[in-house]
Amino acid sequence: MADAATPVRYRIAPLDPGAHLFRVDCEVDDPDPAGQALSLPAWIPGSYMIRDFARHVVAFRAWCGKEPLAVARVDKQTWRCAPADGPLRVTLEVYAWDLSVRGAHLDTTHGYFNGPCVLPAVAGREARPCTLEIALGDDPRCSGWRVATAMTRDGAAPWSPGRYRAESYDALIDHPVEMGHFSLERFEAGGVTHHLAVTGAHRGDLSRMAGDLARICEAHIGLFGGPAPLPEYLFLLTVTGSGYGGLEHRASSSLLASRDDLPRPGDPGVGEGYRSLLGLCSHEYFHTWNVKRIKPAAFVPYDLSREVHTTLLWWFEGATSYYDDLALVRAGVISPGSYLELLGQAATRVWRGAGRHRQSIAESSFDAWTRFYKQDENAPNAIVSYYSKGALVVLALDLLLRRRSEGRTTLDDLVRMLWERYGRTGAGVPEDGVEAAAAELAGGGLEDFFARCVHGTEDPPLADLLADVGVRWALRPARGQGDKGGRPGEGGATEPVTLGLRTAAAPGAARVTHVRAGGPGEAAGIAPGDLIVAVDGLRVDGEGFDRREAALAPGVEVPVHLFRQDALLTLPVTPRPAPADTVSLALDPEAPPEALARRAAWLGGSP
Ligand code: ZN
Repeated sequence: MADAATPVRYRIAPLDPGAHLFRVDCEVDDPDPAGQALSLPAWIPGSYMIRDFARHVVAFRAWCGKEPLAVARVDKQTWRCAPADGPLRVTLEVYAWDLSVRGAHLDTTHGYFNGPCVLPAVAGREARPCTLEIALGDDPRCSGWRVATAMTRDGAAPWSPGRYRAESYDALIDHPVEMGHFSLERFEAGGVTHHLAVTGAHRGDLSRMAGDLARICEAHIGLFGGPAPLPEYLFLLTVTGSGYGGLEHRASSSLLASRDDLPRPGDPGVGEGYRSLLGLCSHEYFHTWNVKRIKPAAFVPYDLSREVHTTLLWWFEGATSYYDDLALVRAGVISPGSYLELLGQAATRVWRGAGRHRQSIAESSFDAWTRFYKQDENAPNAIVSYYSKGALVVLALDLLLRRRSEGRTTLDDLVRMLWERYGRTGAGVPEDGVEAAAAELAGGGLEDFFARCVHGTEDPPLADLLADVGVRWALRPARGQGDKGGRPGEGGATEPVTLGLRTAAAPGAARVTHVRAGGPGEAAGIAPGDLIVAVDGLRVDGEGFDRREAALAPGVEVPVHLFRQDALLTLPVTPRPAPADTVSLALDPEAPPEALARRAAWLGGSP
């Protein structure tokens, strides 16, 4: 007899790696007598966009014993099998050709999948334990593959195909799986064994990277207070020519990066690429607590059939984005100067977007599904990132808590309070839960800050707050489109001018990708998609737009020749001095000793 402890049994194997097809089997001993429904999620936790994974299912069949069962579609993601007089077996063929951290990917070199892409939920049986048999199939090109996943082994040998298990469907689909030939590195941090599995050709120094990751993981575990809520942890990294992305899970993370970002053997430095890779790992690792265990109430439990809205992503992504790089400097992996450069670049991204005056980070969180995740050419004018501005608001909150309490209360205390109150208990964070906890710690008086910076569209007062910790904030004009900010710019002989456009190189032209609200380009009628072929009567070729723009004089009208669709237009445009929208941060050499002590406490972390 089947009961609530009878597991739902899944099996997955490459069916045809050349055709990018996985075969998935699912067995239920006691299907719904009225006809068993199965469905695939519409989205994957951590990535707030409807993806409709069911659209990649190319075959769905059901049997009871040897008898085929009729299958009816219920909606875009649900199948209902005819009533079965005994155990039910369902077989899916799923197309897997999305090499992203949220997808599934299979070819003759490797396989990778996230559960929501391939493993259907059995309606009414979601709370049951599950087993997953990971097999390599019959194709000789898959033989010899190893398996990397943080899912609990249930008979499988380490790093091998075989049987794995999870306590529920929700847990089952929280463990991405890599199958193939990967490099492995192991390290200990905070009493927890961590693994780094790297897929893709590379010559990186993984033992160096493991050493740096260990210090970063220790910093996070130390912040939340041990023991870490993990038996083991797996960083699942895929390296390609130019990828970038990450997705958090409870006991692992999927990461996509450029192979050039890996540290080179013999090079002790931390270049920009490696720094960004460590920041990405640090970000996903912080999520182990913040969003995977401390969760918005709206996500308890996840409804994966449709959009689920919360205004709190500014905290769950903003605080995570704040601590990701902060942990690098606290762990001693990068210098304070390097950290300030990262912070200045993040601030520059925010200060360059006019959309921050139109949308608050609470609204940006709520609308993530249709706006942040579906950005178009108008996005910089219309929306704000709950990641970037969220991180700056969280930094401001940290500095404000420190100022109000003369250093006795910090954001670390807020993080620990949320962990104790919501993370350890599993209770969801209500929409006002972060603000309430912060007010409790500060003894009130933060309503105005949250009203202005979280629910309103004001910039956080960072120039003032950073002075407390001996950091100078300065705004200057950008010097060309490649200027990411963060550092003081090299002064030029002339003041920079702007046409208020972002462009990308196109054959024989510069393609307009964004027209800044209120800028000269907008006033002249230049539009996204226009192909600019000449500025001031001189040809613009590919990358040449910046050079032409830099040669213009403010206030002096010039013609711009461009193609819109196939029509040639000549539009007069008057350049203006470039706005001071580029943030540079520097350690203040004249900071008094109290500020230096506060800076050391901030960048050193709490004991
Ligand atoms: Zn994140």
